[in-house]
Amino acid sequence: MSRVLPIRTYGDPVLRKPARPVAAITPEIEAFIGDLFHTMRAAEGVGLAAQQVGRTEAICVIEMPAAYDVEEEGGPRLNPDVPLSLALVNPKIVEASAKTCSMEEGCLSFPDIRGSVERPWSVVIEHLGLDGQPKQTKLNGFFARAAQHELDHLAGELFIDLFSYVKKLAVRTKLKNLQAETLDKLQPV
Ligand SMILES: [Zn+2]
Repeated sequence: MSRVLPIRTYGDPVLRKPARPVAAITPEIEAFIGDLFHTMRAAEGVGLAAQQVGRTEAICVIEMPAAYDVEEEGGPRLNPDVPLSLALVNPKIVEASAKTCSMEEGCLSFPDIRGSVERPWSVVIEHLGLDGQPKQTKLNGFFARAAQHELDHLAGELFIDLFSYVKKLAVRTKLKNLQAETLDKLQPV
């Protein structure tokens, strides 16, 4: 039975911790992946990484609404061969397109903060499949963006790091407040 785990917010030091590779797909790892999916769905997100629930295994999950996996509304899926629910274990980007694109992103660890981030349009990710075998998955468009956002989490990096200078200034107060709220909650009263 999968559980909904509390989501860690900005200011929690675990969000800056780089993940450690997983040695094998054990029943515990499978259960953790189930918890990640469950937590992400409950929060209505499209992606979630281990650090966002206070863990440091190199695991993230993505669930792409089919309607988003398109170049333009109503068009064909950009990644028809990729399952819309994807768990990436020990993921690594091995190829990124020169073509980039800018799009607004949000993050479950940053309620109320959104901002434009420029990223490669397409990436090839090497990762462990749930069968324990190494796999390569090519992702295009918004799916590639979601995966890059989650892989950043696994490296202890956050989407605000990629904001423009002007945007960073614009969200500075919001970020300070969020950080203070998070630290308040972390400290036992
Ligand atoms: Zn995020």
